[in-house]
Amino acid sequence: MKMEEKNVWHSRGREEIEDFAKDYIDFMRVAKTERLTVRVVEGQLKRAGFIPLEEFAGNPLDMAVYQVNRKKSLAVFRIVDDLKKGMTLIVAHIDSPRLDLKPKPLVEDERIALFKTHYYGGVKKYHWLNIPLEVHGVVFRADGEEVEIHIGDKPEDPVFTIPDLLPHLDKEDQKISEKFQAEQLNLIVGTIPLSGEEKEAVKMNVLKILQERYGINEEDFVSAEIEVVPAIPPREVGLDKSLVGAYGQDDRVCAYTALRAILEAQNLPRSVGIILLDKEEIGSDGNTGAKARFYLKAIRSILKLQGVKDSEYALDEVLEKTAVISADVCAGVDPNYKDVHDLHNAPRLGYGVALVKYTGSRGKYSTNDAHAEFVGRIRKVLNENGVIWQVATFGKVDRGGAGTVAKYFAEKGSDVVDMGPALLGMHSPFEIVSKADLYETYRAYKVLLENL
Ligand code: MN
Ligand code: MN
Repeated sequence: MKMEEKNVWHSRGREEIEDFAKDYIDFMRVAKTERLTVRVVEGQLKRAGFIPLEEFAGNPLDMAVYQVNRKKSLAVFRIVDDLKKGMTLIVAHIDSPRLDLKPKPLVEDERIALFKTHYYGGVKKYHWLNIPLEVHGVVFRADGEEVEIHIGDKPEDPVFTIPDLLPHLDKEDQKISEKFQAEQLNLIVGTIPLSGEEKEAVKMNVLKILQERYGINEEDFVSAEIEVVPAIPPREVGLDKSLVGAYGQDDRVCAYTALRAILEAQNLPRSVGIILLDKEEIGSDGNTGAKARFYLKAIRSILKLQGVKDSEYALDEVLEKTAVISADVCAGVDPNYKDVHDLHNAPRLGYGVALVKYTGSRGKYSTNDAHAEFVGRIRKVLNENGVIWQVATFGKVDRGGAGTVAKYFAEKGSDVVDMGPALLGMHSPFEIVSKADLYETYRAYKVLLENL
């Protein structure tokens, strides 16, 4: 009669959990930005025989295709049938909170050259102080040439950092929101003055290095996207090595588990897909985010290949019959901060993938509240396939809250529910997931693709 909770470690072999975690850690070592993630995922898709949708010329009832959108998001499909029967989709986001360089980033102040930044997404600013930072991105020069920049991820590379004020001079008791200012999130770039220069000699020396090494000048930063992320590789955490600590697990842990699920799912009852999105952390705006139409266009292209004439109406039909798993992380119970949760409805590390009926805040605003009918179908598939799952809500009512991409898929007519592993230290430079939940999330996504 009572609802049971089950610990994954009691139910699965250590070896299968560790094998999966090892592959995941390898993925997280390289997938540090949305562009790098798209690149890694595309490589894995190609190796598995998926081809770009625009190049497809075979049987439209048997397709393994993908479409990359502006190098920052992508949609992947395995079509096995008439698409009008609907699909099962898993959607995750591949952008994570970080610091972005400003359009004119380079300044010299008190003989130190600095890169000015604007933070992206929900960060606690003090998390970004006194840690090694690396930069990844692209610069488009005036001649149109693309230059890729990656500094700090190789052992021989230098890193960047933002030093905090020393405790000796930090006696003022200020509110956190006043103490840490966004305009002080400036990276140290150099301290050597260029000889022969009188004004801004240190900045001039940095510009000289940039010119020599990358062939770029100060104006080139205007047409660039350079992202600053922690130079902290993923690590196993705990004496029992039960956890993985890494930057960007929100939400690349779901992107990776969804990718593995679609690559390995067998005997599909209908067509399936995964969509990896950009811009979730800043409200899903922009043409690479969940509000954009690129994935709808891809579905429409497949309908046309299947001979559908009125693809506008058919698209609505497909979406209405489509089941969407909004694959995103949730907040696990941290014993140091347990008062923020309704502990009766909060997820614990190691107790499986979390099923989140609604996110939102203050009276369920801004959420897709999954229908009981749909949650019932999901629960049945998970139970019949022995997946270990638990319930999650996003903190105590009126305490705060969060959103996911779920509502953008719900408004298209699909049934949607949020599901993913619980994290500790979410949105920090070193987020924590349980290897057991990581594995169980993959198992959940796979059986849903195989059975919904
Ligand atoms: Mn997320
Ligand atoms: Mn997030």
